[in-house]
Amino acid sequence: MKIRYFDHAATTPVSNIVLQEMLPYYEIQYGNASSIYTLGRQAKRAVENARKNIAKNIGAKQQEIYFTSCGSESDNLAIKGIAYANKNKGNHIITSKIEHHAVLNTCKTLEKQGFEVTYLDVDNNGIVDLVQLMNSINSNTILISIMFANNEIGTIQPIKQIAEIAHKNNIIFHTDAVQAVGNVKINVEELMIDSLSMSGHKFYAPKGIGALYVKEGINFEKIQDGGHQEKDKRAGTENVAGIVAIGKAIDEIYKNFDSYNEHLKNLRDFYIEELEKNIPNIKLNGDRYNRLPGNANISFKNVNAQELLFKLDEKGICASAGSACSTGNPMPSHVLMAIGLSENLAEGTLRITFGKDNTKEDVQFLIDNLREFILKK
Ligand SMILES: *Cc1c(COP(=O)(O)O)cnc(C)c1O
Repeated sequence: MKIRYFDHAATTPVSNIVLQEMLPYYEIQYGNASSIYTLGRQAKRAVENARKNIAKNIGAKQQEIYFTSCGSESDNLAIKGIAYANKNKGNHIITSKIEHHAVLNTCKTLEKQGFEVTYLDVDNNGIVDLVQLMNSINSNTILISIMFANNEIGTIQPIKQIAEIAHKNNIIFHTDAVQAVGNVKINVEELMIDSLSMSGHKFYAPKGIGALYVKEGINFEKIQDGGHQEKDKRAGTENVAGIVAIGKAIDEIYKNFDSYNEHLKNLRDFYIEELEKNIPNIKLNGDRYNRLPGNANISFKNVNAQELLFKLDEKGICASAGSACSTGNPMPSHVLMAIGLSENLAEGTLRITFGKDNTKEDVQFLIDNLREFILKK
């Protein structure tokens, strides 16, 4: 059966051009980047070249990029690292209610360690409340961490405005940009971002490689002990093949940015418009315009999205629901609750996230099956 994959916010396939670039670093150029002989120095050079690629594509300096194992680790390192390094200045952190668990649970851990965290509300489209942000700031606030774009509903936040508010108050601003990198043009200098997390497997590099940008001059503590890799901020032998891959993947995606973005938007808008024409009582979640190019998060009335996922799977369609099934009980997502969705709609929420290899025919197949399942239920 042909697989039609519409879950690119969960992960993406490794693109062939990226795979070919990384393969030699397993079998031929397998040196440890810390070794001093030629094989090691070649690996080191490949790591630094990837660092340069990442920096160039987000408007950062090469020395401001640190490699990690994933987006979650980047979030942990940034938030805990900045909190620990600045705890003499204060213990208050501001984030939002719709962050990924990599951020939310990091903040929960910090709360247990004596930090105070404010979780900002969002409006019905998932945009953070900037007035509440300003009112939440106090003399102990050391860090604001707000995601660039939401992984469920695709909403893109007013990042520059948030950064401006942070800097006016001498507060460090971190953003989880795991969904944004590759889908939104990002220049950390223009946007005044102090720290930014990304993850390779969300933009056609493999799983197990992430990167963190931290602006020069901003202190953060390492959270893992060991060797002195990554300027003593992240111990562990460098994942050279993964690093080469993420460097190649970010270069590829921004090189082809306009056509890729256009392709995703076309599929997304076609899908949304067709569903709105053909299926009654549906609701598009997230901001209609300020949203990721490939994200369509739609709620269907009186539909069980978990069941829908199984039916779609039988047709080879991969998608995602708005609730996570833990111990048999579907728990509506914290993001859908934060935008004020009813439980009925949250339970009937389907997240479709398009990618570069999807075609209009694939999308038509998806629409036809959804009509079949939802209208003839
Ligand atoms: C996927 C994702 C993460 C986690 O990244 P991993 O590399 O899977 O650890 C964090 N934040 C957001 C917004 C994500 O979409």
